Amino acid sequence: MSWKKELVRALCGVCAAAMLLTGCQSASSTAASPAASASGATQQVATGSAKGIEGDVVVEVTADETTLYDIVVVEQNETEGIGSVAVEKLPGMILEAQSLKVDSIAGCTVTSDAIKNAVRAALETMGIDPAPFEVAPAAGETGERTAETLDCDVVIVGAGGAGLTAAAQAAEKGAKVIVVEKMPIVGGNSLKATGGMNAADTAYQEALGITDSGVEEFIEDTMNGGHQINDLELVTTMAENSAEAVDWLTSIGAPLPKVEATGGTTHKYLHEPEDGSAVGSYLVAKLSEQVEKLGVQVLLETEATEILMDGDTAVGILAQSADTEYTINAGAVILATGGFGANYDMMTQYNESLAGAVTTNHAGATGDGITMGVAVGADTVDMEQIQLHPTVYQETGLLVSESVRSMGGILVNSSGKRFCNDLATRDAVSAAELEQEGSYAYIIFDQRIVDDLASCQKYIQNGLTVQADTYEGLAEAMGLTGDAVTNFVETMEKWNASVAAGVDEEFGRNNGMDEDLSTAPYYAIKIAPGIHHTMGGLKINTEAQVISTEGQPIAGLYAAGETTGGVHGGNRIGGNAVCDFVVFGRIAGNNAAAYAAEADAAA
Ligand code: ADP
Repeated sequence: MSWKKELVRALCGVCAAAMLLTGCQSASSTAASPAASASGATQQVATGSAKGIEGDVVVEVTADETTLYDIVVVEQNETEGIGSVAVEKLPGMILEAQSLKVDSIAGCTVTSDAIKNAVRAALETMGIDPAPFEVAPAAGETGERTAETLDCDVVIVGAGGAGLTAAAQAAEKGAKVIVVEKMPIVGGNSLKATGGMNAADTAYQEALGITDSGVEEFIEDTMNGGHQINDLELVTTMAENSAEAVDWLTSIGAPLPKVEATGGTTHKYLHEPEDGSAVGSYLVAKLSEQVEKLGVQVLLETEATEILMDGDTAVGILAQSADTEYTINAGAVILATGGFGANYDMMTQYNESLAGAVTTNHAGATGDGITMGVAVGADTVDMEQIQLHPTVYQETGLLVSESVRSMGGILVNSSGKRFCNDLATRDAVSAAELEQEGSYAYIIFDQRIVDDLASCQKYIQNGLTVQADTYEGLAEAMGLTGDAVTNFVETMEKWNASVAAGVDEEFGRNNGMDEDLSTAPYYAIKIAPGIHHTMGGLKINTEAQVISTEGQPIAGLYAAGETTGGVHGGNRIGGNAVCDFVVFGRIAGNNAAAYAAEADAAA
């Protein structure tokens, strides 16, 4: 039985049609041209293409029967800072090794595979047998690592949103900070966040005249969204510190002045960048600049493996890169390793039906911080709470931003009808989607939204959308036929009338209804639920201290972000991951720096 069918049973008690999910790794080549000769063999040039994470990756290859001379990526739209790393590094690696079996770039497997497949396609066009290049390169010389010991006040594991925030904050307090990041890039899942940051009672809300979205409402919406199993103290801390966190971001050059509503909330808290850019890449870039400015040492491709303990106190970590075995002694340790949404072994311990689901998570989301924390006595909470996001493009696991709905987008099924409050909580919308024929839906938006939202412009550029100048035309482009076309046109007209009236009588949607969907052209993307956020994790208190199974803080050990549990309860509302990592990243950074300074003074 498919994961979706299992989930329908788990979530709704209703059995829906199964839908198989298959990855697409198609490749094609377009042209070949004769060229010069080398060593007697005929050297040729051709292009080949293959599907990357965001559309086709096209390479131009110069080769003969025995040698790859050149590989140039001539076209690609891969995510800046994620797939783009593979685009930068892999052609050189293939050329150096003369092999298509070189390791993929960690965290960029889809793009790496696309580049390799595009090269294969180009070779095929030239009539060159790829077999000589399908041999794995010889292993490195000895594989031995040299030992190195580093000392600092605060060591942080993970350079995603929480780790970078904690690093900037601790360094601001004067601590000497080292961050280890196992991937070749910083940013983790945070880099992929497309929406915004929820915050209440901010100066930006006030400037926009939003007076009904205060701390109380924010707490209430977060608790309701999380089915009341959230840790109220943590939620209160997050909400009460959210406005100051927004101010702090402004102070480091990362203002979030636009304010929208988000799924599952009744008020406008979602703070976004002015220019409509995705919040994740925006904040990761600004936080990285700040961290660099403050002299934080960031070790990339360096994986933490263990927390060093002196009795009951955390005093550092062990970590390793390809060539170095690090012992990093520190006054305090912060775990900021993110969630475990890419670790199917860990997830299926809690929910077997997720085994076949696509994930929106980056490859580094493997729950390492939880494993390392538990190994030194940390407690965990809500590990079984794993969120499905309702708008995931299944072919590549790309998440279609919740902002599309916040700005007025709607969902329709294959009969051309709306089927739920499109901006209810993520779990509710996912469950409703899984009940539809085929367990999928379409997200519908218009040119007005595209003009305001950079993510939408990318979806179009990368071929995720179908579009038309009329509702009828869009229905046909979506593949709807017969009554479904008429239904769709009626749905759109009814929706626009509901927006005009300010009331959604059909499904009771009460936000993201400021403007209708009447600006042609119109767009649709076929989507279905995918694994998104792991709400459970290490138990922390409001000071971001990790709590042991005995119920006491573990001295010297802090955690923040998705590696922790309790803030989001049974379901995270959109915009709260960013609020969580900024607020608790700052608390962890501040407290770890203060603790390390005290320990240092006492020594
Ligand atoms: P958060 O939003 O909580 O910051 P992210 O997913 O954005 O979570 O960031 C977590 C980061 O931690 C990722 O960049 C991930 O690669 C990194 N990470 C995970 N495990 C380890 C580890 N064992 N050593 C170093 N970095 C790690």
